[in-house]
Amino acid sequence: MAGEPQPDCLFCKIIAGEVPATIVRESETTVAFRDINPQAPTHVLVIPRAHHRDAAALAEAEPQVVADILREAAAVAADEKIDATGYRVVFNTGPGAGQTVFHTHAHVLGGRGFEWPPG
Ligand code: AMP
Ligand code: ZN
Repeated sequence: MAGEPQPDCLFCKIIAGEVPATIVRESETTVAFRDINPQAPTHVLVIPRAHHRDAAALAEAEPQVVADILREAAAVAADEKIDATGYRVVFNTGPGAGQTVFHTHAHVLGGRGFEWPPG
């Protein structure tokens, strides 16, 4: 069922504590943890506790949790002191855009400069 934990989902396993992760923030609806392969000095993933395949599916099912993710992303940026210099929030959506884990996640990246357009 949409939103229910999926037994084969890596991020559901992190939420359940079955796979270790460096958790930096938790809220009623979200968990934030450090990316295992950081692409910037700060690289944190903010995920909903509910399983949805991507940001679009989450927005359809639980739009208020999209707002929770963005609020937590801002809180991570403040905690990491990258809010003043700026940071990037990325939802890779679909394999063609680089999505490899099909449980909605926002990448929060900062601590260095970024190019535009993105690669
Ligand atoms: P995406 O490619 O947008 O689906 O992002 C998935 C992200 O999950 C990548 O940046 C990976 O480095 C990260 N990742 C994969 N496995 C783990 C893990 N066990 N703990 C933390 N981050 C992970
Ligand atoms: Zn999941």
